[in-house]
Amino acid sequence: MSVQPIRFFGDPVLTTPAGLVTTFDKELRTLVSDLTDTMHDAPGAGLAAPQIGVSLQVFVWDIEEGSGHLINPTLDLSSDLQDGEEGCLSFPGLTYETPRAFRAVAKGFNMHGEPITIEGTELLARVLQHETDHLNGIVFIDRLIAEERKKAMADIRNSDWFNEAKELGSTPTFKISPHSTNGKAI
Ligand code: ZN
Repeated sequence: MSVQPIRFFGDPVLTTPAGLVTTFDKELRTLVSDLTDTMHDAPGAGLAAPQIGVSLQVFVWDIEEGSGHLINPTLDLSSDLQDGEEGCLSFPGLTYETPRAFRAVAKGFNMHGEPITIEGTELLARVLQHETDHLNGIVFIDRLIAEERKKAMADIRNSDWFNEAKELGSTPTFKISPHSTNGKAI
């Protein structure tokens, strides 16, 4: 068991697209295991490798409907949307109404390099979209409608975790994507 420190928003690794996994070796299996342990310790419903400072396309999830991991994912999304609150372990204590596609089909690989497909609606679809976004350097506040995003930015500036990180010099930039996609794939 190896619980890793979780990176908070402001850390550049969270806004950098992660690299493809090319070697399905012991190191990768350790990464999946560390992600799972860290997610359970938090506790959280999902965790992506950049959130523990590893810029590789790997994420894990654990919700009532099931748990798993996925590597190098691509997503197909339904055009119908769902409403719901969403949070992120890299934004402690903050949740916002975040539009997402109702259904998602994620294709990728397991840690042994075998192709797998994960299909879900509602919460599972939301988790698949949230975690795949992390691998593309997109954080959930990028998906908010403009008014909510403005509120989120103010909340972040006032949060203890953001200000503590700033004092330690580890939040050089405050950058979010200028686009809002309303839950559609980009
Ligand atoms: Zn997250």
